[in-house]
Amino acid sequence: MRLVPPASPARGSIRAVEWRGPEALALVDREAPEATPGQAVVEVAHCGICGSDLHSYRHGLAATAGQVLGHEFSGTVLEAPGVEGLAPGDRVTVRPLIPCGRCRRCRAGEPNLCEVGAVDNIGYGSPGAFAERVLVPRAALGETVFRLPPEVGDRAGALVEPLAVAMHAARLGAVLPEDVVLVLGAGMIGLGVTRLLRLAGVGRLVVADLSPLRRARALALGADRTIDPRAEDVTKAMREITGPGGFGLGAAVDVVFECAGVEETLAHALKSARQGGTLVLTAVYAGAVRIHPDRIVEKELTVRGAFAYRDEFPAVIDLLASGAVDPEEFVSHSFGLDDVELAFRTQMDTARSIKVLVTPG
Ligand SMILES: [Zn+2]
Ligand SMILES: [Zn+2]
Repeated sequence: MRLVPPASPARGSIRAVEWRGPEALALVDREAPEATPGQAVVEVAHCGICGSDLHSYRHGLAATAGQVLGHEFSGTVLEAPGVEGLAPGDRVTVRPLIPCGRCRRCRAGEPNLCEVGAVDNIGYGSPGAFAERVLVPRAALGETVFRLPPEVGDRAGALVEPLAVAMHAARLGAVLPEDVVLVLGAGMIGLGVTRLLRLAGVGRLVVADLSPLRRARALALGADRTIDPRAEDVTKAMREITGPGGFGLGAAVDVVFECAGVEETLAHALKSARQGGTLVLTAVYAGAVRIHPDRIVEKELTVRGAFAYRDEFPAVIDLLASGAVDPEEFVSHSFGLDDVELAFRTQMDTARSIKVLVTPG
């Protein structure tokens, strides 16, 4: 598990949460991480629970037994030997994506598409931040480590990573100011997309989610209208706004963001998009789903996957610093390490939670 052999003498221990198997987390003492030159150790302030963490928790997505999960975090640098511009005491957030840096995609500025497949990713490979301290296996200021300005608190700092996911998805959607947009799923990413599109300018912004809490939050963040899929058919509701799509079928939404990851929402996405429209897929799907490819063909849809982020961290930090994005609209709960199981169960309860933070301190 460790990337670096333990130093001698032992440097003491930290408390950390290991994933042991489906729905089994264990709070354990582990040897404290130590930074070699070019690495950093961060004392974790907050670490958010991601949708992908829930998939890992429930059925082991990308996790092996003993993995410490957690990749959305803020904290304070404890040591950063040989890392230019970084010193103990610096408040930071960290891009947990640690790509090879040498392959064609990395050299093209697409670290999220690293061809090598990054085994050092924090929380997926390298131990994550549901722990008192976390190692940054490759620390470079402005690339993997970002200093937080005073206006960005530690709770906001833990939101930079998921908001960067939302910003990357929003950019790939290439929404125009007059566009009608449908966001399916109002979890952290769907709500982030909602806020960012409202700030950037969008014609009509509609958000669908089963959770009344999340629909209310979508309205607060800038949605014009929300849809409760249990009360009304999503595609029909969109048709009332846009008129029918090609061949008199479906609806005519310019850009659809699929942030839910279930078969039914994907079907609505394909039916609702207009001729020549764009569909951005950013959810994690628990398994295979059935789709109707004819919709993509007939309408010449542009279907874009959106995975993680590239260089969005500084822009997200600026938005948080300016107050354009209020972290408290997203954070719904915070639990200590002792209550990490409760934290995960709360994050799964979409009726009650938006973003749940684990707070080791
Ligand atoms: Zn995440
Ligand atoms: Zn690479």
